[in-house]
Amino acid sequence: MAHKRDYYEILGVSRSATKEEIKKAYRRLALKYHPDRNPGDKEAEEKFKEAAEAYEVLSDDEKRRVYDQFGHDGLRGNTGFSGFSDLNDIFSAFSDIFEEAFFGGGGGFSGRSRRSRSARHNRGKDLKITIKLTLEDMVNGIQGKKIKIKKKVKCPECGGSGGERETCPTCHGSGKVYHTMQSFFGTIHQATTCATCNGQGFVISKPCPVCNGSGLVEGQEVVTIDIPPGVTGEMQMTLRGKGNAGPHGGINGDLIINFEEERHTDLRREGVNLVYDLNISIPEAVLGTSKEIPTVEGPVKIKISPGTESGKVLRLKGKGIPVYGENRRGDLLIKVKVFIPKNISKKEAEMMRRLQESENFKPKPKSFFGKLKDNLGL
Ligand SMILES: [Zn+2]
Ligand SMILES: [Zn+2]
Repeated sequence: MAHKRDYYEILGVSRSATKEEIKKAYRRLALKYHPDRNPGDKEAEEKFKEAAEAYEVLSDDEKRRVYDQFGHDGLRGNTGFSGFSDLNDIFSAFSDIFEEAFFGGGGGFSGRSRRSRSARHNRGKDLKITIKLTLEDMVNGIQGKKIKIKKKVKCPECGGSGGERETCPTCHGSGKVYHTMQSFFGTIHQATTCATCNGQGFVISKPCPVCNGSGLVEGQEVVTIDIPPGVTGEMQMTLRGKGNAGPHGGINGDLIINFEEERHTDLRREGVNLVYDLNISIPEAVLGTSKEIPTVEGPVKIKISPGTESGKVLRLKGKGIPVYGENRRGDLLIKVKVFIPKNISKKEAEMMRRLQESENFKPKPKSFFGKLKDNLGL
């Protein structure tokens, strides 16, 4: 291969150029040297290819990083990238740019870029796991939980490549088959995914004996997971790239974490509040008492005032579940129920009868109309 020019020089941008500057520079060159505008001009075609190659590298963070550090040789060794040989490859690789350039961005093509399309073909499957959460976990979160996950990992034999590769004979490595059509607007280049290689751009000519060409084997990884306070059973967490490895060196899938709440012996959750059902006796309700209430932080003593009625709800502020992403917590609701015994002795029945006679134990009408009736002596 002849001496290659510097990619930044080709696009006429500085080494610190932003992605937007790089894209703009490439668009300008692509339009200038576009084969439709320079029919039969070999030099223009070379410039067109050169610019596409520079853009392919500098528009990709990873390739740009490798290029900045190791130059052209680094790219060939690390990414398998070796430039474009076919014009169709360029149209299909940067169809988004050409669509934008020729149709002002509002054209009739679906505008997903090639990178996201090819990434889809080589993306590993998502993995799903379930983590059990106690109330304590929901309140405090979990820091640095280590979970061993069985998943597809890169084949150690072939490094995930699947074996010896050959450039796909159908699409010449672009992963796209490009159709050229004439239309009212001019020439339209439309890309479809290559069926031979399923958009990968290569075929496996000699499959690796360990993974049979898939590039993947069963393996495991210990994943460290941080669960913030306030996460509950209704939520789901996604750890990007922690799922199965992608076939043929593709990107990893995600790890999706579902949560299952473990029952607490005393407390139940209602949204961000916790609920505790407190049974008190008739004498306790009448005389008042103090009770120990379980909270996530341990037992708390509360006062039950004399004359507490069944159905009363007491509230421990801020003793509930944290509101996810906010610096506040729900409350602990104490629902009071006065216990009425079903079986009592003769002696107890006698005591109750005496209370029944007692004026203070007779229910008082409480409503406005009740009081009105009382006053009128009805
Ligand atoms: Zn292998
Ligand atoms: Zn192909």
